[in-house]
Amino acid sequence: MQLLAGFLSAREAHIFKTRLEASNIGAFIQGEDFVNMYWPFAMAIGGVRVYVVEADLECAHAVIADCLAGRYRRELEAEFGDLDDTKCPRCGSASFKSRSSRLDMAMLAATFFLSGIIFPARARVHVCDACGHRWHDD
Ligand SMILES: [Zn+2]
Repeated sequence: MQLLAGFLSAREAHIFKTRLEASNIGAFIQGEDFVNMYWPFAMAIGGVRVYVVEADLECAHAVIADCLAGRYRRELEAEFGDLDDTKCPRCGSASFKSRSSRLDMAMLAATFFLSGIIFPARARVHVCDACGHRWHDD
């Protein structure tokens, strides 16, 4: 088995594994239980890791290249239409920057200080690159 990719969540690893299997590439996932139980240490062990047999490695890298090039996204849009991605509510642009709110960051820092547990920060404040509009997720 050859290590192909690592993900911070089991969900992402399973989505990628399914994509590989759709291309007739068998894949194996390792580290899922550890990452689910000890998420703060996910990076230390390389996350949830996806392996393929060495004979499929080249084809699997081609799938990664297609993913990064947006091939599968275009196929999904052709089949299902708009994928409901986040867009600027004022101008409709899909180009924006996101960050966590200051309140969320303060709460995460307080949680870490009191319990030693690190929770992931969610980016919920967005600023449109096109019109400068700022909005928050609900
Ligand atoms: Zn905008």
